[in-house]
Amino acid sequence: MSAVAAHAGERARKTGDFYCAQCSERVHAEQGEEIPRCPNGHTEFETRRHEPGDRS
Ligand SMILES: [Zn+2]
Repeated sequence: MSAVAAHAGERARKTGDFYCAQCSERVHAEQGEEIPRCPNGHTEFETRRHEPGDRS
């Protein structure tokens, strides 16, 4: 299950990190802000919640 959940230019429904569906690069967007493009130019993202082991 890796449905595309967001696209660059859309407003983020929640503050969080978005992972590029193409290359897994991560971008961050605040709730209500536009999701930026992946540094590699892709525009489709999957969202993931904070996973166990992510201790940033
Ligand atoms: Zn990418």
